[in-house]
Amino acid sequence: MKTPTQINAIDFDSAKLQRLGFGQPSPLVARSVSLSQLRQQLGQQLQTSLEPQRILGLFFREVQRLVPLDALAYQHKPSDLRLEFGQRGHHSLSYTLSHEGEHLGELVFRRNQRFSEAEQGDLESVLSTLLYPLRNALLYRAATQSALRDPLTGTGNRIAMDQTLVREIDMARRHLQPLSLLMLDIDHFKRINDSHGHGVGDEVLKSVAESIKHQLRNVDMVFRFGGEEFLILLSNTSRDAAALVGERLRYAAQVQDYFAAGTRIELTVSLGCATLLPGESAESLLRRADSALYVAKREGRNRLAMAG
Ligand code: GH3
Ligand code: MG
Ligand code: MG
Repeated sequence: MKTPTQINAIDFDSAKLQRLGFGQPSPLVARSVSLSQLRQQLGQQLQTSLEPQRILGLFFREVQRLVPLDALAYQHKPSDLRLEFGQRGHHSLSYTLSHEGEHLGELVFRRNQRFSEAEQGDLESVLSTLLYPLRNALLYRAATQSALRDPLTGTGNRIAMDQTLVREIDMARRHLQPLSLLMLDIDHFKRINDSHGHGVGDEVLKSVAESIKHQLRNVDMVFRFGGEEFLILLSNTSRDAAALVGERLRYAAQVQDYFAAGTRIELTVSLGCATLLPGESAESLLRRADSALYVAKREGRNRLAMAG
């Protein structure tokens, strides 16, 4: 079956939308609300939330009083946001949303039945009610996200780690899946600071964080635990699989090139690995990974040790 995909750009500032707002209602669709009523209603309702999920969920539900839909998908890559409502449909209308040059995401309407010109006009007109609610929600999200991130390395901070660890332990229990944790510490990092200065130390820290993130599927699970220590949460990962990931991280850190004033800096990391035991607390899991890390250091560094 043919799957038409129309890509449209919606610039909320353009006069086009204003004009469409006063377009004639489509005679093809039996509607329970007029375009202007819906716009007015959504204009008020959508402002009551700062959650993209709730704003778009409401929008999806209410828009259907005017134009029936099978699905709505929304994506905003800069904030790692992807939402889907409803079932998939064969026909789609895609919009790239922007306001004053600011990217506000991509929105796709889907339906099994073809969209008429008039329906497309109506949808485009109603889209404008999303502008301020969506922009505010994205700003709010960016603010809360930065509160959970380490500014130097871009990894999660301690607050994020505490939240995520509790959530992941809960999930692992509920779905009876293994959960492993790696604690990674740079070897003799103090020497790097002492020989090359704190600025170079900072750059090296950033590179190590990049190297870790590059090796992993889910970059949201990397946290800066202490000064030169990182914690990596591996969901649905057994002890053996976690050991392989740990070894890969160790190797990647070792072969990566770090330079200070043109000279290559030798760098290695040590890791401790622990896998969640039945009924174990977050504190106990962290303690066991930390003890394993201590063993790796004691046994000569540049290695991975498994918790007993
Ligand atoms: P070990 O192999 O036993 O881990 O030795 P180490 O030198 O890495 O460990 P130690 O804990 O003695 O030193 C860690 C150093 O990391 C000390 C501290 O100055 C440095 N450090 C912590 N946070 C930062 C940071 O944000 N930037 C820089 N440049 N250095 C940091
Ligand atoms: Mg260290
Ligand atoms: Mg340390």
